Amino acid sequence: MNASTLVKEIWQGCWQRDSWNRAALFRLAGVFVLAALSSWLGIVLSHQSEGVATIWLSNGLILGLLITQPRRRWLAYFLIGLSADTFADMFYGDPFRLAIGVSLANSVEVVSSCLLLTLWFDSPLDLSKRKTLVGFLVISVVGATALTSALGAWWTLLLVPGPPWWQMFRTWYLGDLLGMAVLAPLVIMVQRPAFFSMFQARHLPHTLLVLSHPMIVTVLVFTHSRDPLIFLMFPTFLLVAFRLGLPGTVVNIFLVTLMAIGFTVKGHGPLMLIVGQHMLLHRIVIAQLFAAVAIFTMFPVAALLEEKEELKNSLAASEASYRKLAHADELTGLPNRRAFNLQLENAFADGFSNGKHLGLVILDADLFKQYNDHVGHLGGDACLRSIAQVLAGIVEPAGAFAARIGGEEFAVILPDTTEPRALQVAEEIRLRVAELGLPHPASPCGVQTVSLGVVVRVPISGQASIELVRLADQALYSAKLSGRNQVACG
Ligand code: GH3
Ligand code: MG
Ligand code: MG
Repeated sequence: MNASTLVKEIWQGCWQRDSWNRAALFRLAGVFVLAALSSWLGIVLSHQSEGVATIWLSNGLILGLLITQPRRRWLAYFLIGLSADTFADMFYGDPFRLAIGVSLANSVEVVSSCLLLTLWFDSPLDLSKRKTLVGFLVISVVGATALTSALGAWWTLLLVPGPPWWQMFRTWYLGDLLGMAVLAPLVIMVQRPAFFSMFQARHLPHTLLVLSHPMIVTVLVFTHSRDPLIFLMFPTFLLVAFRLGLPGTVVNIFLVTLMAIGFTVKGHGPLMLIVGQHMLLHRIVIAQLFAAVAIFTMFPVAALLEEKEELKNSLAASEASYRKLAHADELTGLPNRRAFNLQLENAFADGFSNGKHLGLVILDADLFKQYNDHVGHLGGDACLRSIAQVLAGIVEPAGAFAARIGGEEFAVILPDTTEPRALQVAEEIRLRVAELGLPHPASPCGVQTVSLGVVVRVPISGQASIELVRLADQALYSAKLSGRNQVACG
């Protein structure tokens, strides 16, 4: 998709009435409330920590909500986000000029992220793909936030006196970067049903157990101010990445970041070891850097692990399908000779250990060479498929196993059977094939028939399953000798 098509789609879609059903309008109102609340929370947080915006959540929230919507709703979402942000600023007491300028600066981040991510990556945005994730981290988390922070700091300093631009940019940037990195992926993922599979009753205990590790370690590390134990966090992050993949990591990083920053602002944890001039600012910057490093390390690791898992699953699926192919006869779809051999071995071993009778029927199409000559090879193939269907219809309900073991030869394995039962099954096959009524000029009865050899034995020690095949073949041979279209027992 190119830029002009995208912009056209956003602009024109916005005016279509059908973009706005009740649910969409309701969502829009929800976006306003959430965006205003998160902006307000960001402002309160920064005022609690001597004006340092520790984490700015609203841009990540709006981006996550906007990019998951159809493009025809983007403009409205964007305007709602902008007004919510301005409203929150003014509610806190900022003059309109400052509030709208800062909100416009925030919008630059959301708009540029949305446009670039849509132009350069597949929609819907799948952050579990490593390339897309890295794109998101570079474009939205590092790049767009820098632009917003530069503009926001410049506008603020134009209207109110403050620290040097560079200093304001740095604190703005880190807070914005963190908010974008922790919240946008969460909001995007929460809107995919797959996200909630880890919270299904079956997985919930495991999920909670795994997620509780980093929570406990965060509390321990950040209530302990005497030693810098912050490195203890990384093994728990890895545990979450291994066990819960990217969705779990996103939840984990979100919670841990909020906790770590909260503890630090309130004067607890290993960063209290930092003392001296501007120590609060210094501590917060280090806490932000810690969270940023955790994000830039763990998100790609989790995505990589997820990709590996996907690869493993697709390999297992393709192996299963190849195994199935290797055991299927291409023409009839019945199991082939290889599958027959394995099945017979197993049935023979079972019969031997249980002392139960094992039955084997081998059947062969009568005068098939002449049938081929009459209808052509393709017609002969169709006949073989019809015989296979007859077999499948008879053996499935009987708990038996049918296979095509040669050109016009088939076999049926009947575990735990009796001779009369095996003869009955063979006779049914013979009748049903004749009933197909496939005209055969060389056949005495005018239609294609089959001859069948039956053998039923209790497998004995020292005997091989192949012996059963030999006996059934002998019986088949005598059926042929006796005039074909009949069952003989060996
Ligand atoms: P009999 O009653 O003694 O079994 O006679 P027959 O003609 O069936 O036996 P023969 O072994 O002489 O011929 C078997 C024929 O089966 C020859 C071959 O062309 C045909 N055939 C084997 N496999 C296929 C197949 O996959 N498709 C088709 N159309 N014909 C096949
Ligand atoms: Mg034949
Ligand atoms: Mg044959």
